Amino acid sequence: MKKIAILALAPVAALVAWGSGSVLHAQTANEAWQTFLNGDQPDLQPNRIRVQYDEPTDPQLRPVYEIMMRRRPLQKVQEIFSPLRLPMELTVKTTQCGMSNAWYQRPTVTLCYEYLRDLRDMAPAETSPDGITPVDAVVGEFLFTASHEMGHAVFDLLDVPLFGRPEDDADQFAAHVLIRIGKANAPQLIQGAAYMYAEYVKKQTVIVPITAFADVHGAPMQRLYNLLCLAYGADPVMFADVVDKGYLPKSRVPACKTEWGEVDFAFQKLIYPYIDKTLLDEVLSKSWVPYARIPIRRQTDTPQSQSMR
Ligand SMILES: [Zn+2]
Repeated sequence: MKKIAILALAPVAALVAWGSGSVLHAQTANEAWQTFLNGDQPDLQPNRIRVQYDEPTDPQLRPVYEIMMRRRPLQKVQEIFSPLRLPMELTVKTTQCGMSNAWYQRPTVTLCYEYLRDLRDMAPAETSPDGITPVDAVVGEFLFTASHEMGHAVFDLLDVPLFGRPEDDADQFAAHVLIRIGKANAPQLIQGAAYMYAEYVKKQTVIVPITAFADVHGAPMQRLYNLLCLAYGADPVMFADVVDKGYLPKSRVPACKTEWGEVDFAFQKLIYPYIDKTLLDEVLSKSWVPYARIPIRRQTDTPQSQSMR
């Protein structure tokens, strides 16, 4: 009688085992080996950023492509983010998109040649009265955009939880990177990014359709003010110019220390555990404004040009 009862329950037990999937099934030899090696943990490694410059088919984008091939700015992005320990390879590429944009879709960050052309065209023509060059503006804005897309990638690949809108969080990630990646360069880069909006700032008033406020991104000037506020909050002495030169309205200043504190706290808790500290020290010790302010003269040119006279 007892035996029959056990047999009668057998199909139920089989169903429970099937329903609970891998919990009850026997491991294969390979799975057992992986478990022994802790192989179900993600294999987090630094130096996992790959870069790629696609050749555009549109001849109008050719000059931008050629500048990229000469300057190789993606290698800078690769180096800056090399300390991140990621579970897989991430490609950062420039390509022809048919629109001016940049985005992340696993496992690729895409920066469009159309966007890079706009960046070049938007750049101010002259050095600002306080010494911010057009190159500072382009490099600052380029690194901010690349870091913003890297932010999306990092949140995805490292499974970082977000409380805010993803676009705001990616901006905060980018701001943190820009503010931290080189004490000597940070003010130049941040003010460079701000200088890109110089024409905007001069206008004082903008008229936009009401649906602009429904965008997943903050309005351009809000994004800029957020960046400047975080920089000033991080170091009011180093970034004093941000307020003194009138880039950031004084009314925002009292909140900046707390705003930076929150972003820095999130970065420490969620991102730093995935950073290789030795590689980070190397990154922090370098200069990230890649082009000299004054063109370097080739020593051998001088006597030649003198003899030509
Ligand atoms: Zn975004």
